[in-house]
Amino acid sequence: MYDVAIVGAGIVGAAVAHRLRQVWPQARLLVLEKAPHPAAHQTGRNSGVIHSGIYYKPGSLKATLCTKGREALYAFVREENLPHEQCGKIILATQEEELPRLQALYKRGLQNGIPGLKLLSSDEIPHYEPEARGVGAIYVPVTGIVDYQAVTQRLLERSQAELRYQAEVQALTRTPEGYRLATRSGEVFQARYLIACAGLQADRLARADGLNPPLRIVPFRGDYYELRPEARYKVRNLIYPLPHPTYPVLGVHLTRMISGQVEAGPNAVFAWAREIYSRTGFSLQDTWEALSFPGTWKFFFKHWREGLQEYRRAFSKRLFWQSLKRLVPSLQEEDLVPARCGIRALALTQEGTFWDDFYFVSQERSLHVLNAPSPAATAALALAEAIVEKAQQTWSLSL
Ligand SMILES: Cc1cc2nc3c(=O)[nH]c(=O)nc-3n(C[C@H](O)[C@H](O)[C@H](O)COP(=O)(O)OP(=O)(O)OC[C@H]3O[C@@H](n4cnc5c(N)ncnc54)[C@H](O)[C@@H]3O)c2cc1C
Repeated sequence: MYDVAIVGAGIVGAAVAHRLRQVWPQARLLVLEKAPHPAAHQTGRNSGVIHSGIYYKPGSLKATLCTKGREALYAFVREENLPHEQCGKIILATQEEELPRLQALYKRGLQNGIPGLKLLSSDEIPHYEPEARGVGAIYVPVTGIVDYQAVTQRLLERSQAELRYQAEVQALTRTPEGYRLATRSGEVFQARYLIACAGLQADRLARADGLNPPLRIVPFRGDYYELRPEARYKVRNLIYPLPHPTYPVLGVHLTRMISGQVEAGPNAVFAWAREIYSRTGFSLQDTWEALSFPGTWKFFFKHWREGLQEYRRAFSKRLFWQSLKRLVPSLQEEDLVPARCGIRALALTQEGTFWDDFYFVSQERSLHVLNAPSPAATAALALAEAIVEKAQQTWSLSL
């Protein structure tokens, strides 16, 4: 009998295990992960950016936990000697009409308490990024880069939880003492409490636990290109456009990774499978669940223009390059080499809006993380603290 079973060894599950160990040193913790290693999905396929917290609605969980989590993450990676760099980034306005949105974003950053923000004139931009051009920019010095796979691995080690890979939880049964968890391969585990951090499978786990979540996870694919080594000098650190005003993405950007590569992307297109990464990947169950949900169609109707644009760009290297060339005019189409992709879990409501904040629900003996989109990797340590606090309160657990 374990005290707490955590489903999912992405960064959120790992951070929850780590937090539980801090507040409950004697606990028997179990982490069940269906992949053969940690960070196999969103966490291991993201942009590797430590976000500042500039973008999010003041007072939202995203805003408060990103700011707090960023500081906690920097402290953790420094202490643990994990590769990272606080390199800063610039957010560019490339046309005059974008300037009011740039100003508004700057003000939001101040409201969110992001330290060191600077508004840059077009002449000042090359001082930070010699090849970038724009009519104005925001310099964000606290943004950084990190290897989230390494962070996840280290959090799991420090948690001293028992780890089981290739253990896909298929059935959850409540028992008088807590939960019985059965895996696809037939193993059975018992735990007093359950915390599900299942990323792209979050809604399914919640339904398996008898909840009726108001959200459906709909997968959105993000493709990346990589700059060929001879072109890497064109990007010193991180160069972002202004985020789209209504579509839930930051826009394709240029990111120096901790490995030294420079990546371009990701775009955001509807995916035909939650966890298959080939371009032709298709899952009947995932597609059926997404397309039989009214919220998906309402989302498509609301955003058909952006969706179409993203789809065209997904199949045209030229269009992808043209988006990036607006930020760095010296980029050549042949500088871009197709690279990996990631799939985001977009949580949609019945009304077709995306749930724009972290969201977790707790009940008698379980807690489900139903929405942990970007910047959840940055915020993971603070998010885990909030999750464990909420669980403790709901379960009346005094440790
Ligand atoms: C393309 C992309 C770029 C991003 N860029 C950034 C960025 O630069 N900075 C940032 O802060 N955030 C970024 N994000 C967001 C961030 O990566 C995610 O918010 C975060 O990784 C979510 O972590 P998670 O642990 O909730 O999910 P995941 O990493 O997806 O982990 C969930 C785990 O649960 C496991 N699981 C699911 N179901 C079961 C089951 N039934 N039994 C056992 N195991 C199960 C899965 O196998 C998986 O390993 C990005 C995301 C994407 C997709």
